[in-house]
Amino acid sequence: MTLQDPRTSELADRLAAVHRRIDSAAATAAGAKPTLIVVTKFHPAADVLRLRSLGVADVGENRDQEAAAKALEVSDAELRWHFIGQLQTNKAKSVAAYAHSVHSIDRASLVTSLGRAMNARQQENGRANLECFIQVDLSGAYPELSAVEPTGRGGRGGVAPSNIEELADLIAGTGGLELAGLMAVAPLGVAPEPAFDLLARASAALLAQHPQATGFSAGMSQDLEAAIAVGATHLRVGSDILGPRPPVL
Ligand SMILES: *Cc1c(COP(=O)(O)O)cnc(C)c1O
Repeated sequence: MTLQDPRTSELADRLAAVHRRIDSAAATAAGAKPTLIVVTKFHPAADVLRLRSLGVADVGENRDQEAAAKALEVSDAELRWHFIGQLQTNKAKSVAAYAHSVHSIDRASLVTSLGRAMNARQQENGRANLECFIQVDLSGAYPELSAVEPTGRGGRGGVAPSNIEELADLIAGTGGLELAGLMAVAPLGVAPEPAFDLLARASAALLAQHPQATGFSAGMSQDLEAAIAVGATHLRVGSDILGPRPPVL
């Protein structure tokens, strides 16, 4: 692979376009420029290396098996791996071996498992604490939808805003874990603004209790401008940089 291969050029162009969108949205919002996490799920480790050569330092994955293999394959590259998908407790040990952060904390048992795994890992190699984002279910921002579909149109995971505080206290009190902030995925097929407004209110409430938990992980290919407008600190962008993902098997 050389820097000039066609795939690298394509990634460079798409990455530059996303950075332009971020810059222009951040200029309007007058906030600090958020961290761009490039979501590489379903794309090969070679693309991760291409992105690294283009200056990308943060990558996101949503399945442990795939993430662990890729992180091992490109372990020489200086990258921060962000775990952003549903996580089973029996994968905590694996995730603790490569992840800089987990954005999808949604229950107490996961906190306990990650704490135990991090404890073992830190005794082995003294690694830094794992940054933990609580994933929030924002379907409550659309009462008209939940009335139609009781399970919530969102259906994209996370805890109800009323349960954030309990989970936050648990993370903050667990060795090896660092409470970083909140994460959410806006519901599909509706305007993201109500969801992101709800997340911003939840974030303000969390900050009153945990002033260090400034992280606000929101904004994907479709809605990064709306997320930046309400103060996103971490964007998770996949398809607008890497192109369409292969169909899920
Ligand atoms: C896949 C994924 C993303 C990236 O989505 P795109 O629409 O491809 O930008 C962001 N967040 C989570 C949780 C994801 O699973």
